[in-house]
Amino acid sequence: MHTETILSPDFTWQEEALCAQTGGDFFFPEPGSSVREAKRICGLCPIRATCLEYALANDMRFGVWGGMSEKERMELRRTGR
Ligand code: SF4
Repeated sequence: MHTETILSPDFTWQEEALCAQTGGDFFFPEPGSSVREAKRICGLCPIRATCLEYALANDMRFGVWGGMSEKERMELRRTGR
């Protein structure tokens, strides 16, 4: 028997999230601290594109999502690149 995590349907893709397996705390670094390690994990994550899309679609302001910091995502939204 396995225990299922209670997730809303929108979050089922996060079952494959690498950060969930490694412990996500460093994905929400203190302002100004390094996000390099979080980005490295994202680079190995199988659902990076989905994660980034989700963050952009839902206007996630804080933390590293899909390998991008909040500043980078803001830039992406602003410039389309
Ligand atoms: S891309 Fe990064 S933040 Fe998104 S689920 Fe994967 S490891 Fe987590």
